[in-house]
Amino acid sequence: MTQILGNFVAGAETASHSGRTAAVHNPATGRVSKQVVLSSAEEVAQVIAVAREAFPAWAASPPLRRSRVLFKFKELIEQHFDELAEIITEEHGKVFSDAKGELIRGLEVVEFACGIPHLQKGEHSVNVGSNVDSWSMMQPLGVVAGITPFNFPAMVPMWMFPVALACGNCFILKPSEKDPSMGMRLAELLKEAGLPDGVFNVVNGDKEAVDVLLTHPDIEAVSFVGSTPIAQYIYSTASAHGKRVQALGGAKNHMVVMPDADMKQVADALMGAAYGSAGERCMAISVAVPVGEGTAERILEELVPRIEALRVGDGMSSPEPEMGPLVSREHLAKVTGYVNKGVEEGARLVIDGRGLQVEGCEDGYFIGGCLFDHVTPDMTIYKEEIFGPVLAMVRVKTFDEAVALINAHEYGNGTAIFTRDGDSARQFAQHIQVGMVGVNVPIPVPMAFHSFGGWKRSLFGPLHMHGPDGVRFYTRMKTVTSRWPTGIRAGAEFVMPTMK
Ligand code: NAD
Repeated sequence: MTQILGNFVAGAETASHSGRTAAVHNPATGRVSKQVVLSSAEEVAQVIAVAREAFPAWAASPPLRRSRVLFKFKELIEQHFDELAEIITEEHGKVFSDAKGELIRGLEVVEFACGIPHLQKGEHSVNVGSNVDSWSMMQPLGVVAGITPFNFPAMVPMWMFPVALACGNCFILKPSEKDPSMGMRLAELLKEAGLPDGVFNVVNGDKEAVDVLLTHPDIEAVSFVGSTPIAQYIYSTASAHGKRVQALGGAKNHMVVMPDADMKQVADALMGAAYGSAGERCMAISVAVPVGEGTAERILEELVPRIEALRVGDGMSSPEPEMGPLVSREHLAKVTGYVNKGVEEGARLVIDGRGLQVEGCEDGYFIGGCLFDHVTPDMTIYKEEIFGPVLAMVRVKTFDEAVALINAHEYGNGTAIFTRDGDSARQFAQHIQVGMVGVNVPIPVPMAFHSFGGWKRSLFGPLHMHGPDGVRFYTRMKTVTSRWPTGIRAGAEFVMPTMK
């Protein structure tokens, strides 16, 4: 019997009666491991009602009590660390050590959220007018929803819900239908940590479920991470229905390599940033931009042997490979199609990873690392996000040309510069139109106490995820201005003062 994964509602797993399911695969073997329900619109509305009912008590609970649930949750994640990482590898395909890295980055947001009472204190001014004080409260919004992508089944939900819960909101998670088990397991651990039933719920599903979350009057805010066309749809639909929205989209991240950079470091950085997690990271480097005469050749000399030696295989096998499969057969066909297109459009395919066979995993969704040189900005493989292990090299003559190239791209998620020159690095950080910038750091993902977000078509909405922006997103400021007319000071009291 194939397992059917349901929803997590009011503290327990519930079945769906929609009659629709989707298959969940192990990408390394191609085998179906389970089915996940695709909830109906009515079922989603019922989950919203459950969360709505749980909200007043959770919002009224002392912030420290909420933090303590998250402290306990952190402990439970640590206790179940390997088990959780294994779930990621089995459904996403990334190698086990990378899955553990994802969990750590998620855990850091839980740690940040444990201290949120400090950030929710608000402001206070005494005597803004004669005998008038003014103070602000940062109150929770109500029921908020998170819709998440396949590529970080633990970390991306954990960018959202620890902050939302710590601020006093109830949360509904709609995970990717490609790797839904993690959301359910996190829900169980939250319950074990003492979270009251109904405060965190999981609805599995597709567009039908999402559309209810975007339009239902009892959803106050929507956090989304996924591809740009869907992010734009989420932003326009949910904001038209009066909700707060932060919708993070796709990316095309460039790494500028100045002639003075250490090419060994550059090649190592490119290997991890372009081929780690099979390029299925929104902060993956997909374009290398060598600056000046001879820089590209010096990179190739170091990089090509490394790509040729890249070990690809089942992320759970031992010794561990460096790169796992892509997430699905459809995605493999899409990435392979992009490589074909690059060849057709005249880019030079220096390393061709197409058609890779991994022994013992013949039905897995594998492709080896691919490298294109002489890519130009008009080519499809430059313009579009491939989301696979395909690195494109775009040669430029000057630093200014590199900056102009990046600034002209529709995406602005992450970028990096490799140089030994402080002035180039400083100019780059100042003038680049990208939300997250690395200086000799290829994947500059901000820590949990900073906020994560791109610019341009990589983010719709004003506020980034987690850190201070996360707290702003999940709270609403209320400012109280108060004056007290003369009170008990009016007359003398001769009796011992007692509490009245
Ligand atoms: P996706 O856009 O296909 O799916 C994301 C979520 O939206 C899933 O939960 C999915 O069920 C839902 N969805 C899909 N189609 C929908 C529709 N028509 N209507 C409503 N909901 C819909 O993205 P994906 O393939 O799961 O993830 C990969 C993408 O996510 C890449 O583009 C990547 O760059 C992006 N991403 C961005 C960031 C970031 O921080 N900017 C982080 C991670 C991933």
